[in-house]
Amino acid sequence: MTEIVLVQGDITSESTDAIVNAANSSLLGGGGVDGAIHRRGGPQILAECKQLRANTYPDGLAAGHAVATTAGDLEARWVIHTVGPVHSTTEDRSATLISCYRESLRVADELGATTVAFPAISTGVYGWPIDDGARKAVHTVRATDTDVTEVRFVLFDGRAYRAFTDALS
Ligand code: ADP
Repeated sequence: MTEIVLVQGDITSESTDAIVNAANSSLLGGGGVDGAIHRRGGPQILAECKQLRANTYPDGLAAGHAVATTAGDLEARWVIHTVGPVHSTTEDRSATLISCYRESLRVADELGATTVAFPAISTGVYGWPIDDGARKAVHTVRATDTDVTEVRFVLFDGRAYRAFTDALS
């Protein structure tokens, strides 16, 4: 059974085993959560991402997939990088968003991470509506068979926090 916990704050401060990065497919950094993780986590994370690009993902990590690095100077042990879909009004990309949560939990299981912090994937620069993003996040975690005992959704602002509170109830 996975316990779901909601907190409002900055995901880079979490001391869960793993924190999930809302990355982009380049794996080479960006804004939002991604920028904050690399800023606070130091150069080690980017160095590992560059290695992943060189060795495993020459064309980048596709949306819906996830891969882990160490967490550099962060308190967490690992960062799980996942690439959310850009929201579209003409194409339903829900399966890709759901895959981000599932794949991140699968990678967490591989690592042996039992506590994992997630941001609200795709709901920033990638434009996914927060209420729907929150429902899909909560429902997917509930429906996924995983050894992770605690999923902590770390929501940056009050609006996102309320959306997740509604989705949980
Ligand atoms: P995406 O490109 O997947 O939309 P973003 O990083 O732009 O990713 O935003 C994802 C969500 O994370 C948004 O709801 C945004 O408000 C939130 N966010 C931004 N910075 C942080 C942070 N440091 N900690 C937690 N959440 C954050």
